[in-house]
Amino acid sequence: MKDIVTTEFKARYGEDPTFIIRAPGRVNIIGEHTDYNDGFVLPMAINRAVWVALRPRKDATVKVYSVNFESEESFDLNDFSHTDAGWIEYVKGVSWALLQDGYALSGWEGVLAGDVPGGAGLSSSAALELAVGRAFEAVAGETWDGTKLALAGQNAENNWVGANTGIMDQMISANGEAGHALFIDCRSLDTELVPLPEGTCIVVMDTSTRHSHVDGEYNERRAQCEAAASAFNVKALRDVSVADFNAKAAILEPLTQQRARHVVTENERTVAAANAMKAGDVAALGQLMNASHVSMRDDFEISSTALDKMVEIAQAQPNCYGARMTGGGFAGCAVALVDVGAAEGFVAAVAPAYKEATGLKPALYVCDATDGARLIED
Ligand code: ADP
Ligand code: MG
Repeated sequence: MKDIVTTEFKARYGEDPTFIIRAPGRVNIIGEHTDYNDGFVLPMAINRAVWVALRPRKDATVKVYSVNFESEESFDLNDFSHTDAGWIEYVKGVSWALLQDGYALSGWEGVLAGDVPGGAGLSSSAALELAVGRAFEAVAGETWDGTKLALAGQNAENNWVGANTGIMDQMISANGEAGHALFIDCRSLDTELVPLPEGTCIVVMDTSTRHSHVDGEYNERRAQCEAAASAFNVKALRDVSVADFNAKAAILEPLTQQRARHVVTENERTVAAANAMKAGDVAALGQLMNASHVSMRDDFEISSTALDKMVEIAQAQPNCYGARMTGGGFAGCAVALVDVGAAEGFVAAVAPAYKEATGLKPALYVCDATDGARLIED
């Protein structure tokens, strides 16, 4: 990717770029539908990223060519507005959010390219937002806080682009570190880096199914979580321990009880998973991932036939410690914790078995945990 953006930059501007930025996509290892309940998540930044090669401009114009979309777009930082739903809206949105937060921005021009597959649930949008944030930082010659840039990225995505997302994707793309997952408290935004167990990797398994029209399902889940929190008289389900929940669950009607049980137990699993990582306890981590899948399938009811099949096939492989669906649900990707040395064999076994079972061709990505969005110095 670095070569691609550098070569394209040189072809367009006849010189080397002044700055090169890399901002990674992400995968969530455990902690699903906990973010909007003020709970915990445990994602890692992956070895797929959005790259930008750029040079400062003397004026307030931002001009960007996307290699992936084969299109060049530009706008003036002093005077810009929505045009359509194209990719440049993410760039404008981050500019808008940073200006709102009082950052002084100046113009730049360059090239962007990424290898985060779009719309697969690996968050190419957050990667793009953080790449843009760091591009403005580089041009300003200043050092900006990763969490603040993450919040600006989320603000851009929610309020400029109009996609309703939590803060996890931007936080991990901003603050990830090689070899580590990031334990995030979605209430305080406190973070803790936890090492991935030595000798293991995460394999992302895209079922090649995509959800559509599930906003109603998400809104319903959110409403059920809020109803449960208010029945328990707390701000969010984050404030309910598993013990509290078990003692008082009968006050909730059965479906709400089921939904809340997922969130309450998932929070506890996510804390336990971070501890298992710190202890290097791969087996415990894998078991927590398996339990998380069952909870999403049976209590939160956000899995699908394809996701269940993928997880079942993955769990049956030797050298796989655990697997679960990941992301919002109903379609998309699952993740497995696998021995590094066995990853190739794992992919070679899972892909055909899944195709045989479903008739769908999956995409599997063996992922390393990488650094968050930053300037690449060579
Ligand atoms: P994802 O799950 O990958 O985040 P989204 O729909 O949220 O999917 O975001 C994908 C969008 O992000 C693309 O449609 C595009 O607008 C923008 N994007 C991502 N990568 C690039 C890129 N390399 N060049 C231009 N736009 C990109
Ligand atoms: Mg996205």
